[in-house]
Amino acid sequence: MMDASECGVRVMCRFRPLNEAEINRGDKYIPKFKDDDTVVITNKPYAFDRVLPPNTSQEQVYDQCAKQIVKDVLGGYNGTIFAYGQTSSGKTHTMEGKLHDPQLMGIIPRISHDIFDHIYSMDENLEFHIKTNLAVHEDKNRVPYVKGCTERFVSSPEEVMDVIDEGKANRHVAVTNMNEHSSRSHSIFLINIKQENIETEKKLSGKLYLVDLAGSEKVSKTGAEGAVLDEAKNINKSLSALGNVISALAEGTVRLSGGNCRTTIIICCSPSIYNEAETKSTLMFGQRAK
Ligand code: ADP
Ligand code: MG
Repeated sequence: MMDASECGVRVMCRFRPLNEAEINRGDKYIPKFKDDDTVVITNKPYAFDRVLPPNTSQEQVYDQCAKQIVKDVLGGYNGTIFAYGQTSSGKTHTMEGKLHDPQLMGIIPRISHDIFDHIYSMDENLEFHIKTNLAVHEDKNRVPYVKGCTERFVSSPEEVMDVIDEGKANRHVAVTNMNEHSSRSHSIFLINIKQENIETEKKLSGKLYLVDLAGSEKVSKTGAEGAVLDEAKNINKSLSALGNVISALAEGTVRLSGGNCRTTIIICCSPSIYNEAETKSTLMFGQRAK
């Protein structure tokens, strides 16, 4: 376990299964998994805190990537979970999954259930205030903004799902207007938990950022032009800035919030040879954070 004063970064690596199109095309399946922390691509090993092969269930992903951070946030820490990877590598499946399906739900719905289970099991003298906050990211000039995001007090996991559904609907409208696809924007979901013990007046407050990043693929592959190309470049810039921040955190040259934070990065990869270059670049991004 990390010391409480440490600002830890954990890097997890998840591979999705080959999809139908890849199978139909006869794509070669390239990863080889070694122990529970290494993946080998064309003879080169990449080690992470944990590697999650394609047969890993949503529940196992939650247990290994998120469960501890939820405990930390309920204990007054701040936490962040990022999903990084090219479009269709499984970021949204990992972070959201099927919101209302007990088997296929991803990290965000599981977190919501866990937080409320914790609250329901607590002693009655605690008062909880839980706010969720879903940001829609870039305006028509491609300037990221947090203004105008949805912010709600919630009192059950179902209300959290409602906020997500609402946010998705908003995001969809914004995206259609800009004639672009959601893979070119980041999606940030913030859960803000404040607890107060009514008797002792002791207060605890923790924030949990859940981030489904924009697709990390190289611009050339998407065939983007004009404004869409500029936008793709901006996204690449913001992802590479994020890479710098994360490696500074991992090296311990920078600390956030006085060390009161936990960061988990889940890098998501396709197993198909078709995506080999992007997969290697994603694995390298993940290695920088170690
Ligand atoms: P991204 O958000 O990175 O663009 P998605 O999460 O939307 O990618 O995944 C692309 C497709 O692959 C979706 O249809 C998703 O349901 C499926 N998928 C992704 N990861 C898995 C997985 N681990 N198991 C089964 N299907 C997956
Ligand atoms: Mg997605």
